[in-house]
Amino acid sequence: MAHLNSNYLKLQSGYLFPEIGRRVSEYANTHPGTDIIRMGIGDVTRPLAPSVIKAFHEGVEEMADVRTFRGYGPEQGYEFLRELISKNEYETRNVHVDLDEIFISDGSKCDTGNIQEIFGTDNRIAIPDPVYPVYVDSTVMAGRTGYIQENGYFEGIKYLPCTESGGFIPEIPDEKADIIYLCFPNNPTGTVATRSQLKRWVDYALERKSIILFDAAYEAFITEMDIPHSIYEIEGARNVAIEFRSFSKKAGFTGTRCAFTVIPKELKAFNDRGEPLALHPLWYRRHTTKFNGVSYPVQKAAAAVYSEKGKKEVQQVIDYYMENAAILRENLLETGYKVYGGINAPYVWFKAGDHIKSWDLFDKLLHEANVVGTPGSGFGPSGEGFFRFSAFADRDHVIEAMKRIRKVKI
Ligand SMILES: *Cc1c(COP(=O)(O)O)cnc(C)c1O
Repeated sequence: MAHLNSNYLKLQSGYLFPEIGRRVSEYANTHPGTDIIRMGIGDVTRPLAPSVIKAFHEGVEEMADVRTFRGYGPEQGYEFLRELISKNEYETRNVHVDLDEIFISDGSKCDTGNIQEIFGTDNRIAIPDPVYPVYVDSTVMAGRTGYIQENGYFEGIKYLPCTESGGFIPEIPDEKADIIYLCFPNNPTGTVATRSQLKRWVDYALERKSIILFDAAYEAFITEMDIPHSIYEIEGARNVAIEFRSFSKKAGFTGTRCAFTVIPKELKAFNDRGEPLALHPLWYRRHTTKFNGVSYPVQKAAAAVYSEKGKKEVQQVIDYYMENAAILRENLLETGYKVYGGINAPYVWFKAGDHIKSWDLFDKLLHEANVVGTPGSGFGPSGEGFFRFSAFADRDHVIEAMKRIRKVKI
């Protein structure tokens, strides 16, 4: 008799986006012909940059010729790409990352979930609230939690509430957390951590011998000069942090798939006898055993992101999205909403006031403006009352949506 992994039964059945879909189609069915603008899902809308497409095509052509054909590549990723990453993402910020500390993968979503495999199940995991749902769900699947409680929290996870009064930066807990997920620039709140805020987390991890899992999927959207792009810009972070990066949002690779994870060789965790051992060999083993590398044309396309032309083109697309974010911010502020994010991240996080809940605002904006966003409570209990708009949208839609929202009384 085969037994299933009963941890999966503890998960809530992907509530947020199906529920959004249900409410939108119900409205659309009862109001045929309505032009509904969707700014809910965090997926890019602009095509891949011309340099990226050119390299992608070349990669495919190489696969078509017996002289340049490639089979399995190195599991950890081609050196040509890891070299460009080390140079462009880290050296430029005075951070040294060795080529073999970089693991190319097909996404940060999988990496942020899979990384838990190299840690014992007795670790206490801390996760911000509201949050990118992958961290919580992967923790549940791995059997590190009990059941969900009435307050929306899983038993066994140390939640870190990110509140308006705290600037949506999680507070350092006064109890122990062995592994801490952090995501900056943040999805869903669009906020960033300053150097000193990140340093407090690194210091906490150094003192408690904890590990920080730092998701920097949105670092390319940082516009303010003094905000760190990598956690390794903080002194001591190489001893306590794993960093996740992705080409998905930075260069429009959500449908193309390429990302990377950095595991510094100094990074250690403890065995059953309390002896510190390096984590790098464990992830190397995991990655090379369960993964056979990202396809060659995709890695070649990712490398083109770092060509002189590619950098400019990719930046233009980022600027386009960030102009959308500025339009969203400005209009929502002028309409009377309290607005956060949208300056160093492609997400704008706002609330109408203390009197209206996320789903009520969702219905109001859907019915009165025919605009769809994401209710903040869907990202965790502390998101209640808030709402997220994604700047990954077409300009015309953003402008039209804001025109309509200005007419909705709050
Ligand atoms: C979109 C996103 C990612 C990127 O995931 P990929 O699997 O690389 O596409 C990672 N983390 C967060 C918080 C995201 O929103």
